[in-house]
This record gives sequence, C-alpha cells and structure tokens, in this order.
Amino acid sequence: MSLFRSTVLTVANNRVVSSFVQKYGMRMGATRFVAGETLAQCVEAVKEINQDGLVVTLDHLGESVASREEALEATQAAIYIFDAIEESGVDSNVSVKLTQLGLDIDHQFCLENMDRIAAKAKETNNFVRIDMEDTPRLPITLDIFNQLVDKYGKDHIGLVIQTYLYRSEQDVLDLGKKNVNLRIVKGAYKEPSNVAFPNKKDTDDNYIKLVQTHLRNGCYTAIATHDEKIIDELKIWLKANQIPNDLFEFQMLYGVRNGLQRQLVSEGYKVRVYTPYGKDWYAYYSRRIAESPANALFILKNFFKK
Ligand code: FAD
Repeated sequence: MSLFRSTVLTVANNRVVSSFVQKYGMRMGATRFVAGETLAQCVEAVKEINQDGLVVTLDHLGESVASREEALEATQAAIYIFDAIEESGVDSNVSVKLTQLGLDIDHQFCLENMDRIAAKAKETNNFVRIDMEDTPRLPITLDIFNQLVDKYGKDHIGLVIQTYLYRSEQDVLDLGKKNVNLRIVKGAYKEPSNVAFPNKKDTDDNYIKLVQTHLRNGCYTAIATHDEKIIDELKIWLKANQIPNDLFEFQMLYGVRNGLQRQLVSEGYKVRVYTPYGKDWYAYYSRRIAESPANALFILKNFFKK
C-alpha cells in the first residue's frame, strides 16, 4: 500500500478530522463523488447518467452501524431503492454493504436483513450486489452470499472480489463453479501484508488474471477499475478471445474518469456507474481521497473557493 493511501486512511479514522470534514464536507467537494443526500436527488442524477447511455448501481451510503434500529433502517432504505427504480423507470441495480445491515451486531440478523433485500431484488426482477469490505468480514460475507445465491439465483445477487488479496484466486475458482456474477476490484481497505500483496504491481497483475479466469469459466464479470492500462489490455484480450459483450460490463465510480466512461460506451461497451447517495458519506469519501492525490488537491481547492 502506498504511503499516501495508508496515511489518508489513518488520518480519516481520527475523530477530530472526521467531525470537521462531516461539517464542511459538501463544500469540500463530496458532491463530486456523492449524487445527493436524498434518494429523489439521486434518481435525477441517474436519469442524466442513463441519458448518456450508461447504467447505474445505486448505493445508499453507510457502513458499520451500531444498533439494530439503524440496520433495519438501512435494510428498508435498500428495499425502497428497488421501488424507486421501478417507479421512475431508471436503469439501475443496487449495491449494499453487510456492515450497514448489522453484520457486526449479529450474523443471523444480518443474514435475515440481506435475505429481505435479495427477495425484493428477485420480486422486482432486479439485482443486488454485496460490496466486499475488509478481510475480518470476508468469510462471513462469503457465507451469507453463498446461502442467498443458492436461494435467489445468480441473476438476482452478486458479490465483489478484491485482487489485492492472496486468497482471491481460489475464491474466484470456487465461485466460478456456481457460475456467479462477480465484480472484480483491486480493493480499497488497509490490509496487512500477510493477507494482501504489499506491491501494487502484484495487485494489478492479479486483477487481469482474475478477470480472465472468471470470464474463461463462462461467468458474468463486472470489470470495475479506472485503470486505463488494464482496461486497454483487457479490451485486446476480450476481442482476441471472442468474449461476448453480454458476458461482462465495465464499472466505475460516480465522478471518476467521466470521459473514459463515456468513451467506452461510444465503443459499444456496457458501462455501469456506482452511484452513492445519502447523508452518511464520510467513510466512502475518505477512501476516494486515499486513492488519488489529485482528489485531495481538488478537495483542498474547493474548500478555499468562495
Ligand atoms: P488504481 O490503480 O487505484 O487507479 C488507476 C488510475 O485510475 C489512477 O491512476 C487514477 O488515474 C484513476 N483513479 C483511481 N481511483 C480514482 C479516484 N478515486 N479518483 C480519481 N481517479 C482515480 N473496493 C472494495 O474494497 N470493495 C468494493 O466492494 C468495491 N466496489 C467498487 C465498485 C466499483 C464500481 C469500483 C470502480 C470500485 C470499487 N471498489 C471497491 C474500489 C476499488 O477497490 C479501488 O479502490 C478503486 O477502484 C481504485 O482502484 P482502480 O482499479 O481504479 O486502480
């Protein structure tokens, strides 16, 4: 992990910094990465994205809730998103984090909450993806996913795999046997070197390898990266191996590499924009700053703008 990323993630966990940023955050530029504080604002943003030919996955922000009440609220919020998608007719699915649904409170309670969301995804003929969080939560996340994909089917629930982890190659092979829909990402958390590659190059090489493995196994793959070098290399490989366009999609984050997103659409690829909304944006926002020194500069400039 780079010194910049590790420092930002450590500072972001500081309570004084966090309360300062939460107070001034929208002015500091969070609107670049967050599509609004309410679902209604966000649906308007999704309509505009759809008009440009891109599809969306909506994320009601929040993680690591402390009470059952908050977890139930987050579950209900995710269920409402499916209703809002149906009512507005926008082209979007949903992404959720299990810590938001009470994972750290009680595993069974979290499973029941996730089950309700997956049931709603199936009922509305839509799809929910479980985001992957840090490694202590990975085994239980996999366990919950496996139970629900068996119950609701791969067309209604998917998972994320992080290529900075040594174990991910085996996870991709195991999940490939169930033909599940995976989003492949590099990984956004601070992880120790006994579980994750310390060198970025190894994570990048593993990224290409795991996307190719899952596609070669005939499984739907969401290629979620802004790394143009990797995207270019994969585009050549996809063509050379005659991988059909309906077996994969590119995914990027709202507000990141907008030009590249639209360029891929113009080349005929499906592109999905991960679009977060809500009041609880701090942790998400900190990870985006940690990913790019340019983002930290952008935010500082915005803060001093009148
Ligand atoms: P990097 O090597 O980090 O970046 C490559 C280039 O992309 C950079 O040089 C820069 O030009 C550009 N870039 C990358 N990030 C930014 C940014 N924030 N702002 C501006 N430019 C940028 N991680 C998880 O751990 N769990 C998840 O469930 C998860 N879901 C994700 C869903 C989507 C759709 C995406 C796109 C990412 C998700 N991530 C998730 C985050 C991911 O793990 C990476 O932290 C993030 O995507 C940055 O890595 P990268 O692949 O873009 O490559």
